[in-house]
Amino acid sequence: MTISFTYKRRQTTTTHVGNVAIGSDYPIRLQTMANTSTNDIDASVAQVERCVKAGAEIVRFTTQGTREVESLAEIRKQLNSKGVNIPLVADVHFRSDVADRAAQVVEKVRINPGNYANKPEDIEAKFAKLIDLCKANHTALRIGVNHGSLSQRMMDKYGDTPEGMVESCMELLRLAVKYDFHDIVLSVKSSNTRVMVETVRLLVQTMDKENMAFPLHLGVTEAGEGEDGRIKSAVGIGALLADGIGDTVRVSLSEEPEAEIPVAKALVDYFANPNSTRYNDKNILSYNEDKKSIFFFNTEDDWEQFQLQSAAECGRLLWQYGCDKLEILNPNFSEKQVEKLSKDILQAARIKMYKTEFISCPGCGRTMFDLQKTVADIKAAIGTKLNGRGLKIAIMGCIVNGPGEMADADYGYVGAGKNEVSLYRGKECVERNIDQAQAVERLLQLINETK
Ligand code: SF4
Repeated sequence: MTISFTYKRRQTTTTHVGNVAIGSDYPIRLQTMANTSTNDIDASVAQVERCVKAGAEIVRFTTQGTREVESLAEIRKQLNSKGVNIPLVADVHFRSDVADRAAQVVEKVRINPGNYANKPEDIEAKFAKLIDLCKANHTALRIGVNHGSLSQRMMDKYGDTPEGMVESCMELLRLAVKYDFHDIVLSVKSSNTRVMVETVRLLVQTMDKENMAFPLHLGVTEAGEGEDGRIKSAVGIGALLADGIGDTVRVSLSEEPEAEIPVAKALVDYFANPNSTRYNDKNILSYNEDKKSIFFFNTEDDWEQFQLQSAAECGRLLWQYGCDKLEILNPNFSEKQVEKLSKDILQAARIKMYKTEFISCPGCGRTMFDLQKTVADIKAAIGTKLNGRGLKIAIMGCIVNGPGEMADADYGYVGAGKNEVSLYRGKECVERNIDQAQAVERLLQLINETK
């Protein structure tokens, strides 16, 4: 069966984030998140300028407390004085008071329903106050649910399932509608591409049933870095873009934020630009029922673009048709290269694990160590030694969000303080606050002890 290359954007309402409008009447927006300390004003301003140069349209900052809100006000002021008016987003966890302050300073506030209020009975009053502040200051909100940080209440009722993530999002969304507030963007993210795609689709269906059409932000969390991070992001984000879902995109890589933008742009252009190579009539995408396989033929001559396009097209079909094989063909590349790409896509779609999977957060102002170097050190130390065991190893920048966000990792290396690391086996912390200099070696020992 041949699959046609069509693209029809899901119709949404419009959300205004400063001078950027998000929704189906506008282009899909490209976002990133700073990894500087929010309190390092000079470094943060310089990083935003680099992101803007790369094509970012919105930049988010971690906002742990009121000091960071004051820093964001200064960052905003300095950017404005340079004529850089890109909207800034405060990323707030655990502190509704900080969200309230941030709503008076930046163009959008992201809150996580999983940790927005400690007591369920406080949610409505706190959220109504935040909405009042957003209305008064023309500030938008992102209700951003993450797979690994659902509230205990949701976990007790639904487990860490797509249903639990969607309900967590809908609870606040229904309140926003009740209080007549509509400048909202939604996200439901996971580092598991399959869970992420299933959850976004369920959220769309749930909104449809309740006559809501808010814009969606897409991303695969903790996708890692390098080509694995890009392929994993393309599998998840591409599956949804192919269905016309997605109004703003962030590709989360454990790299500099400006490196995320060309990847996001390539994915968005591939689907949404009618002149892209996707709509070249030489391309073929088909499904063979007897072989339970897919065939993708494409003549793209840039290897990185071809990797992204193959991942973006194939992941969704693997899930849709229950395939466990993939045939990819491109006359510009060797059979060996393309065979490895097929295996990487099968792994990114969680169909077949053939090598160790590294889940790593992109890092942000909470990161207490050199994340990029640490990811490289751990990958080098492990090399191919553990391939075949199907292990997922997480490298997370902070103890505040790391343990929750690494969701289904088998082992975790999590920043616990300045030059200190805690090690996890599944969700259990097995070594606390060890010296970073010894942490990679201890992680390897831990994995070997539990063969
Ligand atoms: S896990 Fe912590 S350091 Fe990493 S991106 Fe999330 S909040 Fe930032």
